[in-house]
Amino acid sequence: MEKERKLIITGNWKMNKTVAESLDLANGLVRELKDVTEVDIAVCPPFTALGAVSEVVIDSNIRLGAQNMSENGYGAHTGEIAAGMLKEFSAKYVILGHSERRQYQRESDELVASKAKAAHEAGLKPIVCVGEQLEDREGGRTEEVVGTQIRGSLAGLTTAQMEGTVVAYEPVWAIGTGKTATSAQAQEVHAFIRNLLGDIFDEDTARIVRIQYGGSVKPDNARELMGQADVDGALVGGASLDVKNFSEIILNSI
Ligand code: PEP
Repeated sequence: MEKERKLIITGNWKMNKTVAESLDLANGLVRELKDVTEVDIAVCPPFTALGAVSEVVIDSNIRLGAQNMSENGYGAHTGEIAAGMLKEFSAKYVILGHSERRQYQRESDELVASKAKAAHEAGLKPIVCVGEQLEDREGGRTEEVVGTQIRGSLAGLTTAQMEGTVVAYEPVWAIGTGKTATSAQAQEVHAFIRNLLGDIFDEDTARIVRIQYGGSVKPDNARELMGQADVDGALVGGASLDVKNFSEIILNSI
């Protein structure tokens, strides 16, 4: 299918996979996906496997990403990882503000915005996640909630930085639950986000930014979701942990 923006499909391995398992998965993906040029592909292993996976994907069409980073540079921040450390592994992307971090680590829009700024300053492309809870959707507050997250989490980015940012719309009720937003529900929110980006930045920027959908994306629903005008890829959790599932999501999306 011909799309206005190149699709970007990212695997978020979350807190899964030992180094040995990560190597198996990465090697399998390199093998299965070596001929894909139509989609930008990235995998985000846990920090402990970044070095090993980096060596496997470095000469392939698969890029590396991390699942989080500090808003600070190097220094006295025990337990944190600086953007510059991710760059050492040739990481290109970093997921920021995932709903699990917003929920369990209490990450705010303001914090996500400072991380996004720091990522760009270090030469990393942030994948900034937004999405409503089930009660927000049922209460008719999806646009209000997602709009607030978009304004807050992207605050302070220049238009050039925004163009190099990926937005991931992930309705929280669809993450890891097996419940996928319908393609119409996804398209509606993606179009809303793009319009809002036009208001905050400008129309050209809004047209360039890629907006991924995330939430129980599987091989059998990928094609329809990716076929929506404003859906420019996927952020995949559970199904990215398996060579066959993640490869099929990508191959079915082309
Ligand atoms: C995610 O965590 O970003 C995600 C979309 O997970 P899943 O695909 O498992 O719903």
